[in-house]
Amino acid sequence: MAHIRFSALDIVQKRTTERIEAPSNKISDYFQNDVFSLEQMKAALAPDVFKKVSHAIDKGKRIDMDIADQIASAVKSWAIGKGVTHYTHWFQPLTGSTAEKHDSFFNAKKGIEVFEGSMLVQQEPDASSFPNGGLRTTFEARGYTAWDPSSPIFVWGRTLCIPTIFVSYTGEALDHKAPLLKAVEAVDKAATKVVQLFDRNVNRVNASLGCEQEYFVVDKALYSARPDLMLSGRTLFGHNPARGQQLDDHYFGAIPSRIYNYMKDFEIEALKLGIPVSTRHNEVAPSQYEVAPLFEDINVATDHNSLMMDVMKRVAERHDLQVLFHEKPFAGLNGSGKHNNWSLITNTGVNLFQPSSSARENLLFLVFLVNTIKAVAENGDLLRASIASAGNDHRLGANEAPPAIMSVFIGTELTSVLNELEEKGNIKIDKGDNMYMKLGIDKIPQIIMDNTDRNRTSPFAFTGNKFEFRAVGSDQNVAQPMAVLNLIVAEQLTLFHKAVKTEMDKGTDKKIAIVNILRQYIKESKKVRFEGDGYSEEWEKEAEKRGLPNVKNTPRAIEAFLSKRSKDLFSRHGVMTSEELEARNEIYLENYMMKIQIESRLIGDIALNQIIPTAVKYQNTLAQNAKNLSDLSLDNSEIVKNIELISGFTKDLRSLVHEMIEKRKELNEIADHKERATKYCDEVKEAFFDKIRYAVDKLELYVDDEIWPLPKYRELLFLR
Ligand code: ADP
Ligand code: MG
Repeated sequence: MAHIRFSALDIVQKRTTERIEAPSNKISDYFQNDVFSLEQMKAALAPDVFKKVSHAIDKGKRIDMDIADQIASAVKSWAIGKGVTHYTHWFQPLTGSTAEKHDSFFNAKKGIEVFEGSMLVQQEPDASSFPNGGLRTTFEARGYTAWDPSSPIFVWGRTLCIPTIFVSYTGEALDHKAPLLKAVEAVDKAATKVVQLFDRNVNRVNASLGCEQEYFVVDKALYSARPDLMLSGRTLFGHNPARGQQLDDHYFGAIPSRIYNYMKDFEIEALKLGIPVSTRHNEVAPSQYEVAPLFEDINVATDHNSLMMDVMKRVAERHDLQVLFHEKPFAGLNGSGKHNNWSLITNTGVNLFQPSSSARENLLFLVFLVNTIKAVAENGDLLRASIASAGNDHRLGANEAPPAIMSVFIGTELTSVLNELEEKGNIKIDKGDNMYMKLGIDKIPQIIMDNTDRNRTSPFAFTGNKFEFRAVGSDQNVAQPMAVLNLIVAEQLTLFHKAVKTEMDKGTDKKIAIVNILRQYIKESKKVRFEGDGYSEEWEKEAEKRGLPNVKNTPRAIEAFLSKRSKDLFSRHGVMTSEELEARNEIYLENYMMKIQIESRLIGDIALNQIIPTAVKYQNTLAQNAKNLSDLSLDNSEIVKNIELISGFTKDLRSLVHEMIEKRKELNEIADHKERATKYCDEVKEAFFDKIRYAVDKLELYVDDEIWPLPKYRELLFLR
């Protein structure tokens, strides 16, 4: 019975490592080789056309059809020169992965390769089965993809990929990218106005993002012998191995050679696609790793993260490995996240979260620091909603993870700067910058230089010159959390600008007005600042006292999108309409419910088809042994005890599984999305999963290893 497990183990033992060689010792020789980059464009296009394109990209403006034709023609020659035969509009639907439908360049009627501006700019994929939350009624079931020129076109395999947004016939967003682009525009507008209080030369503020991607890697053969991993992305059963991560020996340790070659291989592919991967290392849990690129423009970084995940999946196949992006593939071990390093940078190159040695610039820095903290304080529920998923629920608020409380960490030094600013009485300017001395603003640069003050338990941390949103899940498309973050900061900066203007209209000096409003904000947002251990029980209690939300599961968390306040906020900045928010909410509820349903079915199937038969078989063997001993008039009481133990767990297992199946049948009758998803959470997942797992994991411990059907944790985690 345990045939698949043992043949998989056999295969793993015999694996050899293929050494990967880079195309050149110099990365610059192949970086962006498969990207139709600005340089490529410049070389291929007439100077006036190139000027128009780069202007459109810079300003996020539409590209006219006449120049689209010229670009298409240049792209076609470039791509065909690389052996490309097909093209696709590449987009990020709400299913969570990327989507593409390939069309051939070859036009049989004309007998030649054709690629025109209209094919570049817009397409109507027959994509009616993507989730749309009721936004597309059947008679207008069309969805359109539209080219996003701000993200570079690339070649993957033999296909030209054109990054696009995906919208309905009536213009509603059906993807992750469209709202992000709008939120980025909103933050640009709001931040630019605020910066102009200090510097009139700034006319644009760009959001930047660097994603640290965590992942697990397991052998493909072992993976294939685990139906739970294959179909749900996580292990639903598995007794803790005698050794897990307690020795902390994996973290930053030497990378095993088979994995090292895999990393090298996907990094080469990523670099050719223009993804600036720069660091790799082991993570905390055995078989867990991290890869991080250099930060880029937020839109490109978001596309690159999705593309990178695709590349990692496909390259893993070449190495007979499986990469796991699930947030919690193994119980009892660290989960995987995706730290989103975020900052705002002006078109003049100033990072607004970079403290400097000049007092004037430090006031600007404080404006952005304090407004971001205030934005989180006011909108913690939206941030939480933006990272809600069935997988991430295991990292947020589950028993072995940090709570789902959105707090901000800024370090002791900045805390004292803010405290000082808050506590100092009325501020007067003596001469020039003297007031800043009193506030301690010019102390900032020294402290940031020494930024050892790190708190790994905070979901949202200031780390020297950027904020790190750490609670984002490893499997998530980061567009959504980034859209929400940029939106709430845009809103906050808008309010700030208005408040400053109002004060100034009353005759208050600009700097004094700014400082006074900051002082008020510091007070008002204090509750969200937390410097202690975010994983501790005390924090959960303390946060409750402070009135911070702590929503532990997805169906409840995403409700935040539907409040009147949220709808107003999203529509005020043109990021999403209330119809779009409602559609999204419905899609997420449905998606959540289906994920739990799939897990629940898998639990049932594996228990009934694999675990119970194995346990019964072993019981029979034991019964035979007991009989043999008793036939010889020998003591068989130990064996009998063992049989009782196993039959006890087997019985529990069988009845729990049947009860769970009945419950599912009942819940499937519920028509309301919210109610069904919430009940799947409470009455299926919470009520049964752990109990069933307990029985199965006990059986794993007591049943003879020789016949256990599923690869064990020690095998999945330590064989490679
Ligand atoms: P950590 O110590 O958390 O690993 P790193 O300094 O290695 O931090 O940076 C992690 C990520 O943050 C990288 O992707 C890096 O490019 C990115 N990053 C650095 N500076 C900025 C910035 N100003 N804005 C956005 N991301 C940044
Ligand atoms: Mg980090």
